Amino acid sequence: MSDLLELFNIELNNFKQNEHISKGLKDTRNFITKLETLEKELEAEQDEKEYNQIISEANNHHKVWESNLKSNLKNSNSTLNKFNKNILDKIYDFELNDVYIYKIDKTPSNLKLIDNAIKLHLIRNGDLDIIVDKNDDDNGNEVSNEDPRIDLSLLSKFTEMNQILKKIQNRDLSDAIQWATKNENILLTQMGSDLEFNLHKLQYLEYYHSGQIFEAVRYAKTWFPKFINSNSSNLTDVSKLMSSILFNHNDSNSPYHKLNKLSNSNFQEISILFSKKYCSVLGFSFESSIFLILLSGYISFPTFLKFIQIKHLNNKLDWTTHNELPFEINQPDFLKRFHPIFICPVSKEETTLENPPMALPCHHILSKQSLQKLSRNGGSFKCPYCPTTCIPSQCKQVNFGSI
Ligand SMILES: [Zn+2]
Repeated sequence: MSDLLELFNIELNNFKQNEHISKGLKDTRNFITKLETLEKELEAEQDEKEYNQIISEANNHHKVWESNLKSNLKNSNSTLNKFNKNILDKIYDFELNDVYIYKIDKTPSNLKLIDNAIKLHLIRNGDLDIIVDKNDDDNGNEVSNEDPRIDLSLLSKFTEMNQILKKIQNRDLSDAIQWATKNENILLTQMGSDLEFNLHKLQYLEYYHSGQIFEAVRYAKTWFPKFINSNSSNLTDVSKLMSSILFNHNDSNSPYHKLNKLSNSNFQEISILFSKKYCSVLGFSFESSIFLILLSGYISFPTFLKFIQIKHLNNKLDWTTHNELPFEINQPDFLKRFHPIFICPVSKEETTLENPPMALPCHHILSKQSLQKLSRNGGSFKCPYCPTTCIPSQCKQVNFGSI
């Protein structure tokens, strides 16, 4: 595929450099201007001899223009044919429907799901105008045509996320800190995230680097004790931050100079961390699922294409094994983690639709059959991996395909 892209670039440049089309256009414009001039001369001319002279001049111009245009068209057509032959014929030398072996049935409900996945992607990116198609009703009130299956509260949530991210890019952390403080229980207790602490550290550095030393100290006194009390290892970070104010922020002799540097990249990093945690709190993965699916398809496409080409050459080659590909697909690690295969750690067997993976309240995962064996008659049982005790009705089926 990359060879094809390279060839595409070369041919496209050749095509762009082809001057025959623009030369033909230029000649035509000049010819029109000449005709217009001659037309005016004809209107003013009384002498018949001179009149005929102008007509013959016009004929000569026409002959030159026609012959040049034919030659320009011939050359540009040959460039176009070459471009078609080298690029377009190769790019479209397959039927997309043949290339992908496993297809989604185009049932109304499946199409709706795809539609909603696209909408969700747009919502996440803050492209809300595209999603909410508003019309005025007869009374002039706005009516939303929004699909009822998209949770409307997500619109305001992702709007908030994008507004906060914009502020972070402008080095304004106030809203991000407010959100992190409001969600500190979920962030710290359930996720073990130190987003709130990182935001406060960055705000402190912002004061320090802008020369507002007293404001930095006041800020540190207000916020840092909470994080030292909850985790004593934070004291090391706070000590370094507080000691750094003994030195000027641009003093390269300061032992904290490299450690407490501040640039736009600090704000970019905290933006990414913030989006990750914001999405987690909402129960979403950081990356848009439809983006990951398309990316995965894009990466694996050349391999599918190659397989189909080989298959066409050799009719005997066929593959009917369900849910398994006859070739390896090399995907980057961040796409592999959604691999739908799960091996039960108790039975050591791969889970299936009939024997799906089940999550215990402690988030350990077993196959349904292992869970049933452990529970015996639906009674309470202990997780094989931690001290948690639970009953089967507290366990939830895990769907690895649902990212
Ligand atoms: Zn457990």
